[in-house]
Amino acid sequence: MKIVLLGPPGSGKGTQCKKIAERFSVQHLSSGDILRQERAKKTEFGKKAQSYMDSGALVPDEVIVEMMTAAMEKASTKGFVLDGFPRTINQAQKLDATLKRRGQKIDAVLNLDANEEIIVKRITGRRSCPNCGAVYHIQNMKPKIDGVCDKCGSSLVQRPDDKEEVVKNRLKTYYAQTAPVIDYYKANIVVYNIDSNKDPDEVASVMFEKLDAFSGIQR
Ligand code: AMP
Repeated sequence: MKIVLLGPPGSGKGTQCKKIAERFSVQHLSSGDILRQERAKKTEFGKKAQSYMDSGALVPDEVIVEMMTAAMEKASTKGFVLDGFPRTINQAQKLDATLKRRGQKIDAVLNLDANEEIIVKRITGRRSCPNCGAVYHIQNMKPKIDGVCDKCGSSLVQRPDDKEEVVKNRLKTYYAQTAPVIDYYKANIVVYNIDSNKDPDEVASVMFEKLDAFSGIQR
C-alpha cells in the first residue's frame, strides 16, 4: 500500500503515520525526520535545508524530490506512508510521475484536519529527542523523567521551528503552498478527511476504519 497523509503542522501526521506503519507493515517516510537526520549528519541535503527549516519556509522542491525519491527506492516492498511529502503541487506531480514510471500509484490519501488553537498548543508544547527522534508533549505525553527521553535517555529539546513565532510562519506556508495539494489529489482519488482535534487513539480508529476497508479490497 502507498499512502499519503496530508494536514497542517501539528495535526498529528507523525503520530498517526507511526500507527499506520505498524498496522499495515508499511514504512513510515517522514520528510521532516529525514531532513533532521541529514542536518545532524551535516550532509549536503542537510546544509541546503537548514535556513529554510529554521524560518518555517519550505525547502526547495528539487532537493526534497531527490531526497524522497531515494528514500522510496529503499523502502520495503510492502509499501510506505508518506508524512510531510508532498507539500507543493509540483512535488505531488513529480511523485506521481516517478510512481507512474514504475507502474505504481498512490492508493489512499488521508487529510488530517485540526483547528489552529489546538495546533499551536500541540506544537509549542512538543519536546523531541535529538538522538532517536521520539516525540513528547509537556502536558499530554510526558516522559517518565522530566526532560529525559524514555527510549534512549538523551535530554529532550524544543525543535527551533516549534517556537511560537516560527509556528505562525509554518502555518502561513501550509495554507499558501500545501493546502492546494488536497484539491490536486481530490481531482484523481478519494481523499478521506479525518477530524484530528480528538485524542490520537480516537483519530487512529477512524483512520483505520477507512484504510481497513480499503486494504481489504487490495488483498
Ligand atoms: P515537519 O517535521 O514535517 O514539520 O518538517 C519540518 C520542516 O522541514 C518544514 O517546516 C520544512 O522547512 C521542511 N520540510 C519537510 N518536508 C518538506 C517538503 N515536503 N517540502 C519542503 N520542505 C519540507
